Amino acid sequence: MPFVVMITGIPGVGKSTITKLALKQVRVKFRLLNFGDLMFEEAVKAGLATHRDGMRKLNPNLQKKLQMKVAQRIVEIAQKEPVLIDTHAAIRTPVGYLLGFPKEVIEVINPNFIVIIEATPSEILGRRLRDLKRDRDVETEEQIQRHQDLNRAAAVSYAMHSNALIKIIENHEDKGLEEAVYELVEVLNLAVGEYA
Ligand code: AMP
Ligand code: MG
Repeated sequence: MPFVVMITGIPGVGKSTITKLALKQVRVKFRLLNFGDLMFEEAVKAGLATHRDGMRKLNPNLQKKLQMKVAQRIVEIAQKEPVLIDTHAAIRTPVGYLLGFPKEVIEVINPNFIVIIEATPSEILGRRLRDLKRDRDVETEEQIQRHQDLNRAAAVSYAMHSNALIKIIENHEDKGLEEAVYELVEVLNLAVGEYA
């Protein structure tokens, strides 16, 4: 049976850091797929985007088409090996929040787990200010809180249309990282035996 884990969290929460550390400790070999990278490949192929951080400004209907293309590629890979998808539950676009996984798309991927990494808005704001490589929106703590609330709501809707369980992992400044990595490793280790 395919084993697919989606890891989500607001930009700057520490998603990629936790993921990389967890993959070093897990007992099964996971294929790490960054949804944004795959979407960007599809967007370039279709002549739609030239900047990774500009994709969320594309017409929402075009983004949905790209999401489906990526989902189909992921499903194929998941036939052969456990897959961990680094992605977003809800994407902030200039015209409103876009669901990362519309109904048709989540049905195709059918993840086993939706992991949400969370931190306090002030922790996230601090991490964003230290990571100047990325073209990220400047947001207030209230906006960050709202986005995190929306991510939880989005995850519930994904669980409605798949077999996914929702796992919330907190990543706080004081001694939080190690604990967060451990919690993710526990989820990933559930893949042991799935492809036997
Ligand atoms: P990231 O590097 O994870 O922050 O993702 C980069 C970009 O990829 C995001 O700003 C989105 O434009 C896009 N992206 C990632 N996951 C999704 C998704 N599930 N649906 C739509 N766009 C996504
Ligand atoms: Mg990332």
